[in-house]
Amino acid sequence: MMTGHHWWHNASLRTAAAVGEGWRLFQTVYLPGEYDRETLELIRRERLAGALHRAALTSYFAPHLAKTPVLPEQAESVLAGLPVLEKEVLRHSPEAVTTGLVDAWDELRVHTSGTTGDPVWITHDDSRLTESAATNLRFLAAYGLSPGLRMIRATADPAHAPVAFETMHYLGGALVLRINVSSLSPRDTLHLERLCADFKPDILWGQPLEVLLAALRQQEGMLRLPKLSAVFTHGDSFDAGTRETITQVFGCPHYDQYGLQEFGRVGWECPQSPGTYHVEEERLAVSVDDDSHILISSLTNRAMSLLRYRPGDRVRLLHEPCPCGRPHARMTGLAGRKRALIADADGTLVNVKRVRAVLDRTPLHRWQVRQQEAGRLEVLIVPVDPADGARTAEELRGELAGTVKLDELTVRPVELVELATAAGKAPQFRLFTTQHTLSDAVAQGTSPR
Ligand SMILES: [Zn+2]
Repeated sequence: MMTGHHWWHNASLRTAAAVGEGWRLFQTVYLPGEYDRETLELIRRERLAGALHRAALTSYFAPHLAKTPVLPEQAESVLAGLPVLEKEVLRHSPEAVTTGLVDAWDELRVHTSGTTGDPVWITHDDSRLTESAATNLRFLAAYGLSPGLRMIRATADPAHAPVAFETMHYLGGALVLRINVSSLSPRDTLHLERLCADFKPDILWGQPLEVLLAALRQQEGMLRLPKLSAVFTHGDSFDAGTRETITQVFGCPHYDQYGLQEFGRVGWECPQSPGTYHVEEERLAVSVDDDSHILISSLTNRAMSLLRYRPGDRVRLLHEPCPCGRPHARMTGLAGRKRALIADADGTLVNVKRVRAVLDRTPLHRWQVRQQEAGRLEVLIVPVDPADGARTAEELRGELAGTVKLDELTVRPVELVELATAAGKAPQFRLFTTQHTLSDAVAQGTSPR
């Protein structure tokens, strides 16, 4: 389909081509069904039938699918009869769900962080880029925003510069002023205030913790953002206290979205119906299993058949009409992950990304990072081979030492049972600066413990 010219792997060229195609998809796929249930159903069924046709080429789904192509009107019931796809299958035998339809030259690979160690690679075709460009245009329009919007992006990554300019090509070419809200100091205030005033941001964007940290800086007077039209969060579920804090500090609405590395954005919060998220039904089919775990199917990925994939998050599905008039199903009651921040030796709150990256690429049965005091971090590991525990711990100590500034870092091999909480779970992070403590601190005008 695409040429073998080596420029095809040039990120700028690929982006420009995908954004152009995304605009076409926005007009031909996303706009016609936006307020028209019948059209949306037609588009969905046709795309799903195609996805099932491709799934018949994979060894994982083939035994459950007939040789003859699935008709669009049967597609939903055929999908419901397929087995659930667990992350384990992708981790250990990704070839079982690979269609073979996309040449390696055209493949795009996305890496997701594993929950118990091994990362997972998802293979996509170009639709990953084109659909995301298209669906983002619809997303912006829903909130009254336009291409070329200006965004402040809050980050708490210790490796990020204090400020940086970026462009989010797939999000309507948004212009981004990225601010490291974790390392801000009072001497940055005037410079930042001037920068933000000149930049004239429309929105603030970040994970709930990063946005809360921005709220804390704003409260402290270290950050003085001009009036925004909205704050957007992604990546973590959030609680009512967090929402209240965000809307109070920034004096504008807060909207959330739910997504996964495997699929990109899955749902976005309806501006007319807070707490409910419209599913991107043009490109995804979403259902729940008996356990109310979400099952997600990609209708567009031609490289890998991700059907009835179970990421482990719990959700409720609403099919009744939404006050906004959009026919897309909605999700509510999202119970997914909630991250926490690490307090380094200076008391600076930083995100866990770098620490997680090191632990994710180390072959371990399980791990847990604990913090009860700023500057001190304890990492408990359950090695794959217990005989290797001491050596792995020593190597990890060396690797982790460079990720966050600490006074004390302990890494020790343990038995799995030591990681369990009273509720019997073994979370990867047990840190004292959580969304809850941070939003309380901002609300009460105190500094987080
Ligand atoms: Zn709605």
